[in-house]
Amino acid sequence: MTSTPGAGGMPLHTKMLIGFVLGTVAGIVANLYIGEAGWLDALITYVTDPVGQIFLRLLFMLVIPLVFSALILGVVEIGDPASLGRIGVKTLVWILAVTSIAVVIGLVAVNVLQPGRGLSPEIGQQLLADTSQRAGEIANAREGVSGLQVLLNIVPRNPVAAAAEGDLIAVMFFSLMFGIAATVIRSDGTRSFVSAVQGVYDICLKLIGWVIALAPYAVAALLFSITAKLGVDVLIQLARFVGTVLLALGVHFFIVIPILLRVFGGMGPLAFFRGAQPALLTAFSTSSSSATLPTTLKVTEENLGVPRRVARFVCTLGATANMNGTALFEGITVLFLAQFFGVDLSMGQQVMILVLCIFGSIGAAGVPGGSLPVIAMILVMFGIPPEGIGLILGVDRLLDMCRTVVNIGGDMAGSVVIGRSELQYESRDGTDATAVPVDSRG
Ligand code: ASP
Repeated sequence: MTSTPGAGGMPLHTKMLIGFVLGTVAGIVANLYIGEAGWLDALITYVTDPVGQIFLRLLFMLVIPLVFSALILGVVEIGDPASLGRIGVKTLVWILAVTSIAVVIGLVAVNVLQPGRGLSPEIGQQLLADTSQRAGEIANAREGVSGLQVLLNIVPRNPVAAAAEGDLIAVMFFSLMFGIAATVIRSDGTRSFVSAVQGVYDICLKLIGWVIALAPYAVAALLFSITAKLGVDVLIQLARFVGTVLLALGVHFFIVIPILLRVFGGMGPLAFFRGAQPALLTAFSTSSSSATLPTTLKVTEENLGVPRRVARFVCTLGATANMNGTALFEGITVLFLAQFFGVDLSMGQQVMILVLCIFGSIGAAGVPGGSLPVIAMILVMFGIPPEGIGLILGVDRLLDMCRTVVNIGGDMAGSVVIGRSELQYESRDGTDATAVPVDSRG
């Protein structure tokens, strides 16, 4: 999903679009004209399903090392007590608070608009049975687990077993604890551990790039399987999904962030959007927070007047850890696919999804499609067939561009707010009160 040329010189996202169109058209034709023929079944069972499965398995393969390394690095960077303790705490509060708001907006939108409903429950059930017996089993296994038990399960008895069972939240808890301890002990040993973890993270990013390069074929195969079974209806459902995501992203970006900026950052929306524009456009065209980082830093310092040390810390950390748009998207996608496949989720489970999306967005890499491995994992945890990812992949490029803009916007808004409070702190303290007057714009 990057805009860099693929092997054949064609941008990857164009290839994905072609895969999407080809798979969908072929699937619909098969659905309309071939129907129940035995060979079509065989084609789906032995060709298109396995191709899609390989892609999904490759994504799953990366989840544990990625989340483990990303969370440790995130905590280590936040928690450097000597130099950045105060800014670190503020950044952490900003990330958790604003990301939570984003996920709540997403969950409200998907519950109100119900974009995944519409297929008859029988088809949903049949799809569930067809596509993922395993997922169904997991769902059953999770039924009857009490709220208290869910809380207790956050703390893994055995982190290796939690990783093996794909218990993402327990792995996240373990990684956070590990990161915190690594920050507290600043020995040679922990420093080299952290740089090894950085190596793991870099390797994961490379691997994600390779896996995503396979996406056009996987999209074609997954879309063929699903439209051959369901016909045209599925496309209408997909359009509703896209509409829901864009609407929720819009609410967060054009309403919530401006309000926070005005109230806590003393900056008006026009001044912010005007200043931030180059970074927002870069985010839109690259779909990557990491690739946008140099522009984000420059713009935040020069156009938004945030002190360099604040901008550098908040934006650098934010590029991987503060992803409002991604968290919102993860929440909508998981609930959309649950609705689509007819999996009922209780209120408690939705709260769990909220928490997972917050940490999932911290653990997602700032690269195109970086959130997909995390979404795949959350789906499995709730008994929702991960094959559903195939449905959204075809339209993911557009959504990825838009959510990356929201991710970057959140980083810059956070820098403005934290920058302002640092200036106030310093002027109270009598130090460096001459820095840029953050509250004089807009
Ligand atoms: N592309 C997003 C980013 O880099 C991550 C994602 O949601 O896939 O910010």
